[in-house]
Amino acid sequence: MGRCTRTKELEVHHKRKDGGNGLDNAEVLCQKCHSATASYGTPGKSPKPFSDETKKTAFNRAEQQCQCTRTGGCH
Ligand SMILES: [Zn+2]
Ligand SMILES: [Zn+2]
Repeated sequence: MGRCTRTKELEVHHKRKDGGNGLDNAEVLCQKCHSATASYGTPGKSPKPFSDETKKTAFNRAEQQCQCTRTGGCH
């Protein structure tokens, strides 16, 4: 299973909870893949939200497609 092909309901995921809100910590995921990440919706300290500019750049970098390549069956 390769990269997820979804192009709708895209969100920007923090790769690392303590990785800050810069572009290097941003990963574009569809809602389904996002909710399947281990850290999604867990209590505790959340990372700073991404700025609109960072999100826009991340979406463009991902070519408006989910970047998930996980093999856990989320897509
Ligand atoms: Zn996906
Ligand atoms: Zn996925």
